Amino acid sequence: MPATSPPRAWAEIDLGAIRHNLNVVKQAAKGEYYMPVVKAGAYGHGLEQVCRTLDSEGIAFFGVANVGEARRISQAGCRTRPYILGPAFPEEREEIVLNGWRSFISTMEEAAHYNSLARLYGKTLPIHLSVDTGMGRGGFLPDQLEELLSRLGELDSLHLEGLGAHLPCADEDREITLRQISRFEQMAARIREKLPLKYCHLANSAASLDYEIPSNNMCRPGLVLYGFSPIPSPWAAQLKPAMALFSRLTVVRTLPEGHGISYGGTFVTDHPTRVATVGIGYADGYLRSLAHKGARVMVDGVSCPLLGRVTMDQIMVDVSRAPHAEPGMTAEIMGPHIPVTELAEKAGTISWEIFTGIGPRVPRHYT
Ligand code: PLP
Repeated sequence: MPATSPPRAWAEIDLGAIRHNLNVVKQAAKGEYYMPVVKAGAYGHGLEQVCRTLDSEGIAFFGVANVGEARRISQAGCRTRPYILGPAFPEEREEIVLNGWRSFISTMEEAAHYNSLARLYGKTLPIHLSVDTGMGRGGFLPDQLEELLSRLGELDSLHLEGLGAHLPCADEDREITLRQISRFEQMAARIREKLPLKYCHLANSAASLDYEIPSNNMCRPGLVLYGFSPIPSPWAAQLKPAMALFSRLTVVRTLPEGHGISYGGTFVTDHPTRVATVGIGYADGYLRSLAHKGARVMVDGVSCPLLGRVTMDQIMVDVSRAPHAEPGMTAEIMGPHIPVTELAEKAGTISWEIFTGIGPRVPRHYT
C-alpha cells in the first residue's frame, strides 16, 4: 500500500495469538497429532503467514480446501503437508499424488482413480478414508464398510493411513454428536481389525475442547486457533483473539432532525445527530444484514451505533457521544470491544462466515 494511499479498512493479526491458541487446544485435547484447519486463507487470517507460524509447532498436516491452497502452502516453504479436506476433483488428483499430499477419499471410484495414478507414477499413495457418520457431505456410509475393506485389498498402490469424518453438531447438540462418535468408533474398530490406521480424526474445535473420542488421535481445530471457542468451555478464557478489524472516519457532521441516512431511508434522525461516515462496507465483509440490529463500532473509546443500511464501501454511525470524533480517526469494527461473536450474532450468522468474508481489499497487517 503506497504511503499516499492509507487503507480505508485494515485487519491487524497477531500470529503469536494463533500459536498460543494451538497450544491451548493441545493442552485441552491431549491428542497425539494435530491438523490445524487453515482453509479459506486461514479463516481470513492469511494462509501463508499462519502456516509459516505453525509449521514448526509439531503438527501433522495443514487442513485446506483445495489444491490451490495446498500449492500456496508448499510455495510458502512450509514442510508440513497440506491435506485437502473436501474430496478433490478428478483433475486435482494427479497433483495430489505427485506431491504426496493427502485428501479425504469418499467413494470407490475415487480410490480406484488414485490407485491408477499412483501406479502410473510408481508410487504408493497414503490415503485417508472419509466416513459419513451424519454430516451428509461425503464419505462412505457404515453399510459400505465391508465392501470397501474387501476392495481396498485389490488397490495395491494405495496404503491406508487414516480415517476421518466431520461432526455437524458438536457445538449444537450433544446427543446427536455422541451418537455420531459412537458410529465412528465402531467403524474405526472394524477397520482396525483388518488394517492398521495411523491417523483417526473426527474432532473439530468443539469436539477437541469438549468430547472424549477414544479412537481420535488427530484433532482438526479451526475456529479455536483464531481465538474463539464455538462452545462454552473452561478453555475459552485462555484463547486470544487473533484478528482485529479497523477503519477510519471520512466525514463527520451534524445532520438535522428528520434527515434520512443511507439507502432506502430506513433510518431517519429524530433529533440533530452527529454522524460519522466510516470507510468500510459490505464489499469489505461488513455485512449488510448488520443494519438495524444494534451493531456498533468503537470511536475514541465510545460505542457508536450503526445508522441505516450498510453500503458497499461505507457505513454511517452515530458519534454524538464521541465529541472528539473527527475525519481520519480510527474506528474499531471488530476487536477487543466488539468480538466476532457479537458481529455474527447481530448479523444472524456464525463467526466462521464473518472471518472468511473479510474481503481481499482489506490489507492484513501482522505482528
Ligand atoms: N474439519 C473439517 C472437515 C472442516 O470442514 C472444518 C471446518 O469447516 C474443520 C475441521 C474445523 O472446524 P472448526 O472451525 O469448527 O474447528
